[in-house]
Amino acid sequence: MSDSNPCLTCGACCAHFRVSFFWGECQSAGGSVPDDSVVPINTTFVAMIGTDRKPARCSALMGSIGQGVRCTMYENRSSSCQDFQASWEQGVHNPQCDAARAAHGLEPLEPPLEPGISPDRVA
Ligand code: SF4
Ligand code: SF4
Repeated sequence: MSDSNPCLTCGACCAHFRVSFFWGECQSAGGSVPDDSVVPINTTFVAMIGTDRKPARCSALMGSIGQGVRCTMYENRSSSCQDFQASWEQGVHNPQCDAARAAHGLEPLEPPLEPGISPDRVA
């Protein structure tokens, strides 16, 4: 995001969905995710601890939803976390972002009024 990252005052998706991914992303398998931050959910997938239950909240999330949050393992987060984008980031609507925010009483993000500056017109 350009000037302000809405995720820093949100965190809803880290406290709504089950955040699961292939176990091969764990450090013991050569990946980045600490093994003690996950629980197995079947023979193929693991989930971030805290997101495997309702109400969900990833154990790596610090702060208050809708106010100020931080992922304490940002550099080591899974591909599921890396791939989840805030709505309208790079111009793409993400209904799952809206759903997570709604579950925490937050309005959906609005598309930017000026998505890009038009190229100069050549006379
Ligand atoms: S729900 Fe959307 S805005 Fe909130 S932290 Fe997740 S991606 Fe960012
Ligand atoms: S690892 Fe970080 S980005 Fe992923 S769900 Fe947990 S707090 Fe959110």
